[in-house]
Amino acid sequence: MASRRRIRRTEKPRRTRLSHWRADGEAKTRYRSEADANRACLQARLEHGVDLTGYRCEFCGGWHLGNP
Ligand SMILES: [Zn+2]
Repeated sequence: MASRRRIRRTEKPRRTRLSHWRADGEAKTRYRSEADANRACLQARLEHGVDLTGYRCEFCGGWHLGNP
């Protein structure tokens, strides 16, 4: 069994697409406004202890959450 053929699937998508899609290929949750995104950030921090930031998506025009 040769183990040399393992291919790493870590190539990065283009930035605009990266901002719209999750790592598993699904579209990210979309928020209508910055205020909605910021509220979701705060909630994620309180409930899950994760540090997220809202950003405007060039792809769909909505707002998503991502790592700062
Ligand atoms: Zn988007």
